[in-house]
Amino acid sequence: MEKIVVKNLVENGKHFCVLPWVHFHAWPDKRVMPCCIADSDMPTSEIRNDESIIQMMNSDKYNDLRSKMMKDEEVPECKRCYDLELMGEWTMRQSHNKRKGLDYVDYIADVTNDDGSLKEFQMKYMDIRFSNICNMKCRSCGPSCSSLWSQEFLKERGAEVFEEYFPKSKGKIVINNNDDMTLMSKLKPYLDDVTEVYFAGGEIVITQEHYECLDYWIENDLCDQVELTYTTNFSTLNYKKNVDLIEYWKKFPQLKIWASLDAHGEVAECIRSGTDWEKVVRNIRDVKEQVPHAQFQITPTISIWNIFDFPDFWDYMVDNEFIDVEYSSPRFNLATNPWYANVMILPQSVKRRLAELYRVYQEKHKDNVDIYNGFKMIIYNLTVGDENKGGILEFKKFNDELDEYRDEKFEDLVPEIKEVYEWAQS
Ligand code: SF4
Ligand code: SF4
Repeated sequence: MEKIVVKNLVENGKHFCVLPWVHFHAWPDKRVMPCCIADSDMPTSEIRNDESIIQMMNSDKYNDLRSKMMKDEEVPECKRCYDLELMGEWTMRQSHNKRKGLDYVDYIADVTNDDGSLKEFQMKYMDIRFSNICNMKCRSCGPSCSSLWSQEFLKERGAEVFEEYFPKSKGKIVINNNDDMTLMSKLKPYLDDVTEVYFAGGEIVITQEHYECLDYWIENDLCDQVELTYTTNFSTLNYKKNVDLIEYWKKFPQLKIWASLDAHGEVAECIRSGTDWEKVVRNIRDVKEQVPHAQFQITPTISIWNIFDFPDFWDYMVDNEFIDVEYSSPRFNLATNPWYANVMILPQSVKRRLAELYRVYQEKHKDNVDIYNGFKMIIYNLTVGDENKGGILEFKKFNDELDEYRDEKFEDLVPEIKEVYEWAQS
């Protein structure tokens, strides 16, 4: 492909994206997708022990996708980006094209064959979810993302229900795309080209393959080249008995940490079961003290579980200076899965009250546009959508069941939910 054509696609393309040329993204169940927001029901490839990484990148589906993008045609896998752009939103496609796209022009022009296949693959950006191994079982999660959830699900509901619900597990609690120990040896040669990596899990801090990647970059003197980004539950900074992640992090000058924290104290310990809140606080202090170059922020998920407590949690994090609210912003998420955890379905009167409270926080942060917009999104979700008694009853049933398995009582920790349950039962 001509360089001028690639440059034009990077700068002006409506459907072209650099990621299918420079990125490798895979899930624990071995599905390979063009990126983390591409349609996961349409994998472009899969991890197989008899295929190399370049073969996976040159699957028929991947080649077809790239040859369409070379003509700036839409591809169904990337519908989410295109739809968001139609609504005027800034997308991951635009962000990657703009940030580093021009640096990739020569490479893309040189390696792309007419049929969309690649002569050579340089993995500039890596996001491999190696395993579902996790030391927590958050109420908002499930067996495919957490081995602790899998374990409980299998124990409480039995093998038949487990296999029906989670067929990709083939009956196993832990799933791992390196289970035959071939992925890492295939991956290592590609680690030389990586400039950006996104580590998430399961829980990445207790995932072996993550340390193998860090070791590779350290041994090959590549730490300065690699920008590390993490999403972690922040429950631990150690792996096995003698691996201290802080010592690793000190070696990587470009480091961003997103902690999945969205409540504190006993509420956190209930809704994100496995949390030891005091330990989380110690971890935050340790990182701030020992790895001061790390950019630390939170990535809260707002749901019915924490909507009542989130403002208190927010004050706690800000007052203790655990998060910066001047120059950076949390990455706010809204729980839509399971659907009955979505704050939209709360009774109108409760949503009105909550929206008023959240408006105070929005106003407080009017000088930080990202935080302002984060609260705006929460308020929006408290003002649209219909209250739904059936949904609340589903939410109650789900929580009552977990309370029984776990010997916990969600209602006692979040008493505001009792009024909501009474309304749903009336
Ligand atoms: S266009 Fe969007 S969905 Fe497709 S690969 Fe790029 S960022 Fe991912
Ligand atoms: S920490 Fe993350 S992966 Fe683990 S259970 Fe919670 S949401 Fe799931």
